[in-house]
Amino acid sequence: MRQKILPDKTGHFGVFGGRFVPETLIYALDELEKKYSSAKKDKRFREEFSAYLSEYAGRPTPLYLAKNLSRHIGIKRVYLKREDLLHTGAHKINNTLGQAILAKMMGKKRVIAETGAGQHGVATATVAALFGLKCDVYMGEEDIQRQALNVLRMKLLGARVIPVKSGTRTLKDAMTEALRDWVTNVRHTYYIIGTVAGPHPYPAMVRDFQSVIGKEAKQQILKKEKRLPDYLVACVGGGSNAMGLFYPFFKDRSVKMIGVEAAGLGLFSGKHSASLVSGTPGVLHGCKSDVLEDKFGQIKNAHSIAAGLDYPGVGPEHAYYKEIKRADYVAVSDKEALEGFKLLSEVEGIIPALESAHAIAYLKKAGKNIKKGAVVILCLSGRGDKDLHESY
Ligand SMILES: *Cc1c(COP(=O)(O)O)cnc(C)c1O
Repeated sequence: MRQKILPDKTGHFGVFGGRFVPETLIYALDELEKKYSSAKKDKRFREEFSAYLSEYAGRPTPLYLAKNLSRHIGIKRVYLKREDLLHTGAHKINNTLGQAILAKMMGKKRVIAETGAGQHGVATATVAALFGLKCDVYMGEEDIQRQALNVLRMKLLGARVIPVKSGTRTLKDAMTEALRDWVTNVRHTYYIIGTVAGPHPYPAMVRDFQSVIGKEAKQQILKKEKRLPDYLVACVGGGSNAMGLFYPFFKDRSVKMIGVEAAGLGLFSGKHSASLVSGTPGVLHGCKSDVLEDKFGQIKNAHSIAAGLDYPGVGPEHAYYKEIKRADYVAVSDKEALEGFKLLSEVEGIIPALESAHAIAYLKKAGKNIKKGAVVILCLSGRGDKDLHESY
């Protein structure tokens, strides 16, 4: 199959993507698509975005040669793209900055978001504080109890956290409520989606905002190695840090891409978040992609020890990359991820987010299968301070 850069005009990546939303949102999505495509070409938007990325968020992030890790797992050179060093501790700020600047340019006074573990909620509340926007974050009641610290953070940043009591009272119910709010308040409200999912144009737009990761990494590796890497490795929840790294290398056919999902308690336990490795095509969050659903077509609850991977779907562009075999997707368990978490802490003095620890764990496991002399870039999507209580 020929490999094209997508989405097409209707927001499809092959059969994936598109828009599965109430009629009332079509106008809002069209408006967003128009505004985004003109902002992309607008020098003022690009300069403002890149100034905030560097002055506020801390870009460019280093591409660090992890010599001890490389030696330990028997791969020639593993470089870590240090998104963990960004303001708020993860890559999510790249996207929320881009969308908040866009919201401001569109004259919106209020932003909303949904959050599971609270990480995207915190990144949204952060930019809302920065730009003086009112901010409401939908969060399942269950998650509010589990993630008390992030709830406090959001409140301190001036956001309102709205408890969602319906369904399983977790992320997927929060998404439904956020979409419902948007339908009602679309004139003055902007909906900040946290990953490369949602109805068109969100998957492509979030990808573009996150692709600063891969663009920087490419320049940095060409400078350090005088050649492209052999492998890119990143964890996949909704897929935004992975797509941000992968996308700028799409046409570089020699570069292999590996996305690492959460196998949770094991793929056969039913308690995992591996939508690409073991899901089926379906509709979630306004787009078609691979999802976890039961035999009645109901979306299942995902599970992962890493809160940020705990999502029963994945961005449509990943489903497309899988279909055309541009990227490989694998899954590692909670237990393996914890080993990755300890390993990087012990050998490099870097405590990774449990999400990113999945990518580390995969490299450790697959080290022998990766060709000798390989140069690898691994996206260290976030730092692990938030996860210390999980690891004991
Ligand atoms: C949210 C999060 C993820 C998962 O989201 P993606 O959209 O798949 O990148 C991964 N790592 C960290 C640190 C996160 O906070």
